[in-house]
Amino acid sequence: MKYSQYFLHTNKDAKELDSINATLLQKGGFIDQTMSGVYTFLPIGLRVLNKIENIVREEMDTIASELLMPALSPVELWETTGRTDIDVLFEARGANDASRKRNDGRYILNSTHEEIVTPLAKKRRLSYKDFPFAVYQIQTKFRNEERAKSGLMRGREFRMKDLYSFHTSEEDLLAFYETAKIAYMNVFKRLGIWEDTKITKASGGDFTTGFSHEFQAICESGEDVICIDNKTGEAFNKEVAPKDGDFTQHNASEIGNIFPLNTKFSKAFDYTYTNKEGKQQIVYMGSYGIGTSRLMGVLVEKFHDEKGIIWPKSVAPFTIYLAGLNIDDEEIKQQADAAYEELTKAGIETLYDDRNIAPGAKFSDADLLGIPYRIVVSKKTNRQVELKERTSPESTLLDIAPCIARLKQ
Ligand code: ATP
Ligand code: MG
Repeated sequence: MKYSQYFLHTNKDAKELDSINATLLQKGGFIDQTMSGVYTFLPIGLRVLNKIENIVREEMDTIASELLMPALSPVELWETTGRTDIDVLFEARGANDASRKRNDGRYILNSTHEEIVTPLAKKRRLSYKDFPFAVYQIQTKFRNEERAKSGLMRGREFRMKDLYSFHTSEEDLLAFYETAKIAYMNVFKRLGIWEDTKITKASGGDFTTGFSHEFQAICESGEDVICIDNKTGEAFNKEVAPKDGDFTQHNASEIGNIFPLNTKFSKAFDYTYTNKEGKQQIVYMGSYGIGTSRLMGVLVEKFHDEKGIIWPKSVAPFTIYLAGLNIDDEEIKQQADAAYEELTKAGIETLYDDRNIAPGAKFSDADLLGIPYRIVVSKKTNRQVELKERTSPESTLLDIAPCIARLKQ
């Protein structure tokens, strides 16, 4: 991608916001705030979000089938479960007389999808032979949060992967629950945050007398507090921690959770299956969320320095920031163009800074954007290129072919 043709606008002097991720993502031109808790993912930000969501997708594909449910639903479905009074629920209806005259329906902007997925499953899977099964989606959710804050970490419109599983017994649900934990671990490993992520016991809400489990990433700006048992290493959300233990407390952000819903929704929708003996039995369900846009915020909170973001390679928007210095010099321009062509041919995602601006401005953009490697072509590099890692002060001078070979290792 050529910078001069890309819809990318950095502003390293933009004002500091309430959190590191909000500040750095806006300085880097990754996101733009439309209003409190609602953001546009700008082109370079969308690349990161898509990479995060594709990692989530690849791991979820090993345990469930992807589908896409609607963002809008009829109020009646929420009346069926008695959840119209959830305090974060948004409603949508015609905005003016003309629109309401056409259709005066009241709709919910979904904050979660149990109300949609349960009747959907009930239309299709009714025999014990059909179980277990699981479906998931990656979608935009709407919640009227009391306080939208910390950039992408708490939005009123945000991205979530939500997965729902269906079973003929509680034991089968719990077996799947353990499989989901492993798939989650694989996601967070690939994102480079598994070591700092704790599977944390949390309230089961009104769905289960036992616990649910949150995946809590230890992180200063996280809104949750988790308590880690100094003897056993077991983690509890502070809300459910036994009061008499020997614990170390950490701030953390909930990046995912898994929840045994048991029969709460199947009962509401009267979702039963026919067992071997021909009898009707209630279906057991589980739900499993990952906040993909919150994750993007958490990654910035964890991986940055005073100059900007340091994206993990697995989600970086580009692998290379290629800077041609003094590109008004025709010879340099030709060399930089050639390097860009070679990198692109080798399938290495490159952002080519072909703008005619001062070298310092290019270097500061490279650092701000957090792209893992910088390649410089200039008079000084004398037909070679200078390769530098974002996190290292050292650089190496080499020909473009061995440079590409090293990057492909
Ligand atoms: P929290 O306790 O942080 O409000 P929650 O328990 O209400 O979250 P869930 O309903 O479990 O959230 O949603 C699944 C996942 O979606 C969460 O683990 C989190 O990563 C993400 N998420 C929830 N609310 C938001 C939000 N307002 N903005 C961004 N991500 C969110
Ligand atoms: Mg939760």
